[in-house]
Amino acid sequence: MLTPPRRRLCQLRQGIVADSSRGQVRRRLTFSLSHELLHFLNPTHEQTSVGGFRCTRQDMRLSSGDKIGDRHRRQESEANSFAIELLTPRNRLKPFLCGNAKLAQVVAMAKEFDISREAAARRFVELHPDDLAVVFCRDNRFLYAACGREFPRLSITAGEQCDLGQPVQGTISGFDEVAPDDWLHPPQHAIELSAQTLWQANGHSITLLRADQSDDDEVGFDDTFERFTGGQNR
Ligand SMILES: [Zn+2]
Repeated sequence: MLTPPRRRLCQLRQGIVADSSRGQVRRRLTFSLSHELLHFLNPTHEQTSVGGFRCTRQDMRLSSGDKIGDRHRRQESEANSFAIELLTPRNRLKPFLCGNAKLAQVVAMAKEFDISREAAARRFVELHPDDLAVVFCRDNRFLYAACGREFPRLSITAGEQCDLGQPVQGTISGFDEVAPDDWLHPPQHAIELSAQTLWQANGHSITLLRADQSDDDEVGFDDTFERFTGGQNR
């Protein structure tokens, strides 16, 4: 009879062998391995009735920003946080988080840290000072999103069609303004939303959404100020 830690180590080894047998690339295995390592090292992590330690693709996408309502999802989120902290230490990320956010920085991050662009994009929106979200689609249909702390709530749901423009594999589009009503719930008219898309293989795409406070408020303030002063400051 194996003790719990030894049993978990065996499961970890089995998981690695399973990943290898599926021919996963090294960077995917590295994220998976780091994720499994936290399950192994954290004594409070226990197998759950939901999925034990099988760690599905959906589990690997959970982040601390998601609503974590049960033990299984919380453990998976903690394992993901541990993995990404291990693979992309914050003290090495500064060069990628400067200036206006753009997908070229995500691509450079993925290359530098040898992680998937998907993992890099999630990390990017988590830490960049702009209000960002990243949306993952296949054939222009929404799969899932990860949002920065201050980003407004998204309205799109799994399988919904997203108007991302014409795909050109291997390219990154410019930043285009998009209608907040198409993406946000409830609609936020004081917010300007822009989007940039990276077109990948097999119909996959990564879209960076950036929310900016609209100038409307400033115009309103100027009008009020002018009415108050009678335009004497002009
Ligand atoms: Zn897991």
